[in-house]
Amino acid sequence: MYNFDYQQAKSVAEAANTLGSKPEAKLMAGGMTLIPTLKQRLAKPTEIVDLGKIAELKGIKREGNAVVIGAMTRHADVASSDVVKSAIPALADLAGHIGDPAVRNRGTCGGSIANNDPAADYPSAVLALNATIVTNKRRIAADDFIKGMFETALANDEIITAVSFPVPEKAAYMKFPNPASRYAIVGVFVAKTGNNVRVGVTGAAPAAYRQKDMEAALAKSFTADAIKDIKQPDGGLNSDIHASAEYRAHLVGVMARRAVAACA
Ligand SMILES: Cc1cc2nc3c(=O)[nH]c(=O)nc-3n(C[C@H](O)[C@H](O)[C@H](O)COP(=O)(O)OP(=O)(O)OC[C@H]3O[C@@H](n4cnc5c(N)ncnc54)[C@H](O)[C@@H]3O)c2cc1C
Repeated sequence: MYNFDYQQAKSVAEAANTLGSKPEAKLMAGGMTLIPTLKQRLAKPTEIVDLGKIAELKGIKREGNAVVIGAMTRHADVASSDVVKSAIPALADLAGHIGDPAVRNRGTCGGSIANNDPAADYPSAVLALNATIVTNKRRIAADDFIKGMFETALANDEIITAVSFPVPEKAAYMKFPNPASRYAIVGVFVAKTGNNVRVGVTGAAPAAYRQKDMEAALAKSFTADAIKDIKQPDGGLNSDIHASAEYRAHLVGVMARRAVAACA
């Protein structure tokens, strides 16, 4: 049986206060992962702190050379945002291919990034775009944020308030989706700004990572051909009923080449 108190926080400060005073409290964004987790009895929080009514956590704005997305902004709003579509169309495209309409209308940018599912789409964009995760306590660079499977640099009482995505010159995201859930069996996000190229891979390994051999090759020649001989070793990659490690390794190359071609 569930046994928790429900709190609808009115501000980030109020939510942070509850997290600070109740170590077993859990934040809820759209509940898209949290509620199934409760139903499967994989979490037993004493308190659910609902972020849904905190206006300061919602919205999308252009700030200098970055697009800043509030943590409680839903995937559907990112997908349809004129700001995102004109500055980073690849990010709007990524958000528009998450799950199904119900998931896109409940799931949030901050919830997805905090959850850091190995097959989630956003973590690849966080790495490739070199995003900054803004919390109620600090700003965390993309390369310091993802720690492992479902593991991030967030402290227990830390709340993502926004994510700042620098605007690249070119970017594209290609995913080979699980046909049922649309989670990425493998997804590759490629972003180029000047001679700097970053390649974020999701779905393939226990957590999203940068493919640095591809980054180095693409910095010299930004063509799909430049990475055709780069083999992704399958050691350490995920292997399950959906795809073997070897198949995932192959898909990393295919998705990366398609993403580079799409940038052109
Ligand atoms: C059927 C289905 C299909 C899906 N398909 C895809 C897909 O194709 N691609 C994809 O990327 N994702 C997919 N998802 C995941 C979905 O898009 C959500 O992003 C994800 O489930 C998180 O949901 P949420 O935002 O509602 O967060 P919640 O479920 O409410 O929270 C998730 C976790 O993050 C924590 N959290 C939430 N907000 C914050 C915050 N601001 N600061 C700190 N911690 C926070 C919560 O405490 C909880 O631990 C799918 C989900 C479902 C159910």
